Amino acid sequence: MKYTEADLCQLGQGCFGCCGRNYKSKKEIEKALVENISDFHKIVKNGTIEELKRFRDRHDKNDLHACGICYNLIIINGKLGCPLHPKVCGQELREDHCDILHLCRAAKMFSMFDDDKKAEFIEFLLKKKLDWYEFSMGMDNDNLLKEFLRENKNKINNNK
Ligand code: SF4
Ligand code: SF4
Repeated sequence: MKYTEADLCQLGQGCFGCCGRNYKSKKEIEKALVENISDFHKIVKNGTIEELKRFRDRHDKNDLHACGICYNLIIINGKLGCPLHPKVCGQELREDHCDILHLCRAAKMFSMFDDDKKAEFIEFLLKKKLDWYEFSMGMDNDNLLKEFLRENKNKINNNK
């Protein structure tokens, strides 16, 4: 089976790791998410590009919630996601509102792993049964990748 970066970003309940900075508590982020989702439903009735742009432009492009997350982050089909992403709305609506080429270190390395290592990393992550907050924080602070690489190194050393 082939895995892509999107599999990593959308694993489990999704990831908000690169959708903001200086994150506060889970509770504060939940509150901001509820606000985003409520705004989204008030503005986006038919899913048109004009509605999505109105949703996006309700705040200045550089603003973030006090808890650190982006004003555009919502929950899509039960996972954290961005309604402005081309895979979601069919057009790139994030341009100039976030760094669309950004990938965390884990996602960058993941894209270079061979299929076996990708599968191993996914299995390692799933086994941890992290919630969306723990997963996103672990991606953002790089701790999950570091732990995986450490375990891998130990396995190789033990097999020598
Ligand atoms: S922090 Fe990494 S895994 Fe999470 S959404 Fe961003 S690129 Fe994907
Ligand atoms: S615009 Fe979308 S992808 Fe970019 S930071 Fe905000 S929620 Fe994330």
